[in-house]
Amino acid sequence: DKILVTGANGYIPAWVVNQLLEKGYAVRATVRSKEKGTHLEEYFKKFGDKLEIAVVPDITADGAFDEAVKGVDGIEHMASPFHNNVDDPEEFIRPAVDGTVGVLKSALKNNPNLKRIVITSSCAAVITVQPEARTFSEEDWNEASIKQTEELGRKADAMTKYRASKTLAERAAWDFWKAHKSEVNWDIAFINPPMVFGPPIQEVESPEKLNTSLKAWYDFVIGDDSKSRDVLASSNSWIDVRDLADAHVLALEKEAAGGERIIITQGPYVWQEWLDIANSIAPSVRPNGKIVKGYPELEEEKEYKIKYDNLKGKRLLGITYRSKEETTRDTLADFAKRGW
Ligand code: NDP
Repeated sequence: DKILVTGANGYIPAWVVNQLLEKGYAVRATVRSKEKGTHLEEYFKKFGDKLEIAVVPDITADGAFDEAVKGVDGIEHMASPFHNNVDDPEEFIRPAVDGTVGVLKSALKNNPNLKRIVITSSCAAVITVQPEARTFSEEDWNEASIKQTEELGRKADAMTKYRASKTLAERAAWDFWKAHKSEVNWDIAFINPPMVFGPPIQEVESPEKLNTSLKAWYDFVIGDDSKSRDVLASSNSWIDVRDLADAHVLALEKEAAGGERIIITQGPYVWQEWLDIANSIAPSVRPNGKIVKGYPELEEEKEYKIKYDNLKGKRLLGITYRSKEETTRDTLADFAKRGW
C-alpha cells in the first residue's frame, strides 16, 4: 500500500514516514519545497524508491492536493503551523482549516476509493484552559480558544491562536465528512496528542531550530535555568513521538479507528519531573552536559492539572507507551550525539 504523508519534513511526520517505511509501506511525502525534501531522501535512502517526495508549495491553494492524492491507499494529514511567531490568527487558521479541508476535497475528487484519512488534530482541540485540575476526554471540545481568538484577534496569545486553529480544522473536517460520506468509500480518524517529546529525526541544525514542543523540553531541561518555581510546577500531558507515530499507522490499519477521534497520551507531568529524571540519567548518556536542577523538592507537592483519558486509544489501537525515563534517556543520548 502507498500512503500520503503531508508536512513530512516536520518532527512528528518524519517519524510517521519512518514507521510506515519500516512496516513495508510506500510513502508519498509532501513538503513545501524541493530543498525541504533532501534531508528525508538522504535519511531514508535505504528504502530506495519506496519514498517519493511531492512538492505542495501552498496547502491553502485551491486543489493543492489534487495530484498528491492520486493512487494512494491512505493519507496521514499532518501539515499545520505550530510555532510562536504569529500575528494575525488567520496565519494559523487558514493553513490549518483550508489545508485539512483541501486534502478531503482532493480525495473526494480524485481518490474516492482510498481506505482512510487520518488527520493529526491535537489536545489543543480538546482542552479548555482553566485554573482547576481536570481530566478531559474525546467528548470535550475547545470552544474557549475560538471565542478568545475571535474577541482578541491579533492580541490573543500564540497558543490560543494555535488551539483555535486546531479546533476549527478538526471541526471543519468532521463537517466536510458528514456532508460527503455517502459519496466516498473512505472514512476519517483523528489523532489528538498533547505535548510531544522524544528524539528528533527531522532536519535540525541547532537546538534553536527544534520544533515547538521539543524546543520547550530542551529549554526546560538544558537550555534555560532561569525558569521560576511556579513554571516548573506547571503541568501538562505528553506522548513520545515514536509511540505517536505508531498510533498514526495503527489508526490507518485498525478498522475500529474509523470515524473516531482518539487521544494519544502516556499521561501527565509537571516540568520538574523531566529535570529530576534527566539529572538522574544524564551522567550515563550525556557525561559532559549540564542539566537544569530546578526545584527537586517539588516532587513532594506535585499536582497534575491537565489530564486526559487515554483508554480509548489503548482499547482501539492496543499500544503501550514509553515511560518518561525511556524518552528522557533516548532524547539526551540523541542530543549528546549532536554535541548539544
Ligand atoms: P513541525 O513544526 O515540526 O512540523 C509542521 C509541518 O507542517 C512542517 O512540515 C511544516 O512545513 C508544515 N507547515 C507548517 N505551517 C505550514 C503552512 N502554513 N503551510 C504548509 N505547511 C505548513 O511540527 P510537529 O511535527 O510538532 O507538528 C505536526 C502536526 O502535529 C501538526 O498538525 C501539529 O498541529 C500537530 N501536533 C503537534 C504537537 C506537538 O507537541 N508537537 C501536539 C499536538 C499536535 P515547513 O517546515 O515548510 O514549515
